[in-house]
Amino acid sequence: MRQLVITSGKGGTGKTTVTAGFLALAWRAVCADADVDAPNLHLLLHPKVLEEREFKGAKTIVKDPEHCNECGKCEEYCRFQAIQNLSPDPFRCEGCGVCAHVCPVGALKLEEVETGRSMVSRTKYGPFSHARLHIGAEASGKLVTEVRKNAEKLAQNEKLVIIDGAPGTGCPVIASLSGTDLALAVTEPSVSGLHDLERILGVARHFGVEALVCINKYNLSPEVSEEIALYCRQNSIDLVGKIPFDPAVLAVVKEGRPVESLLQTEAGKAIEEVWNNVISRLFPEGQEAL
Ligand code: SF4
Ligand code: SF4
Repeated sequence: MRQLVITSGKGGTGKTTVTAGFLALAWRAVCADADVDAPNLHLLLHPKVLEEREFKGAKTIVKDPEHCNECGKCEEYCRFQAIQNLSPDPFRCEGCGVCAHVCPVGALKLEEVETGRSMVSRTKYGPFSHARLHIGAEASGKLVTEVRKNAEKLAQNEKLVIIDGAPGTGCPVIASLSGTDLALAVTEPSVSGLHDLERILGVARHFGVEALVCINKYNLSPEVSEEIALYCRQNSIDLVGKIPFDPAVLAVVKEGRPVESLLQTEAGKAIEEVWNNVISRLFPEGQEAL
């Protein structure tokens, strides 16, 4: 089983559209949406949820008032000001456990709290692992790891996992990128797009993941697209495709049409070219291995 992650240095570059196009082309790859902070691949895939589980990704302190002798040590030692008037505030609590450690009567204990939901679904294009982080919850990297674990279980007898990666360069991105066989970085032709691309390529390099690049909406700025192409050449990174801006893609998404309709658009045809380049890199022994 090989794992391909579609990634980007920031959100809104068209990463999810490219992922959806790839899924329609792969037909029966296992898919994972690792963008747990703002998942939207499900909007394109129309999944049928088969399993949904609570995900406990954080701990918070809970107090047993009956045992408390009101000594105030917990409030004094909490450096996050998460205990006010001797009452823990779960929104401020970082789950460090210091207060429980200093409490002389054992009135405080750390409890795991639900920070999101993980789901396994069926789609027309193959099994789908996805999740949703609760609003305001942290530690999304752990939930991304859960999504990847579920996808790997689903892929035991499959050849390919396609991961819609988390955008940016933080912990969730690392969780979605590390251990994959190949990354496709999707960028857009803007000065900040190039800067974000450099950062995500740096993360991929750090984790030893080979990265390819494609430019989405390249015709919105042919000059900056050329700059990105030059950057890729100078850094020996393969630019495997340029996808034009195409309002027909928006129409497919808005109307909730099946993902394969994407492939009929101009942008879809360019996505197919990118796919062929990516897949020949991922399966150098030939596409029949897929
Ligand atoms: S667990 Fe840490 S952050 Fe939470 S209330 Fe106790 S000392 Fe404060
Ligand atoms: S340290 Fe323990 S006993 Fe003291 S105020 Fe806090 S909860 Fe109560």
